[in-house]
Amino acid sequence: MSNQFGDFKHIVHISTNITTSCEHCSTPIASENLADNVNHYMDKHGYKLLHVGGENDQDNEGKSIQHTVAVLGKR
Ligand SMILES: [Zn+2]
Repeated sequence: MSNQFGDFKHIVHISTNITTSCEHCSTPIASENLADNVNHYMDKHGYKLLHVGGENDQDNEGKSIQHTVAVLGKR
């Protein structure tokens, strides 16, 4: 794929649909705290916010649900 984020060596994706932990320091990245998670990567690890957007998905019953996703990158 053509890589619009090609300048960045490290890319992280955060979603309101996924609870995970920070790739660098294992801080919990809770799905409901998107802004806090974005700030964590920027403040603690020097990432830049590259993209915030909505993402449509479907639940088990076929109902449409929307997540917010953020992409951060570091050179
Ligand atoms: Zn961290």
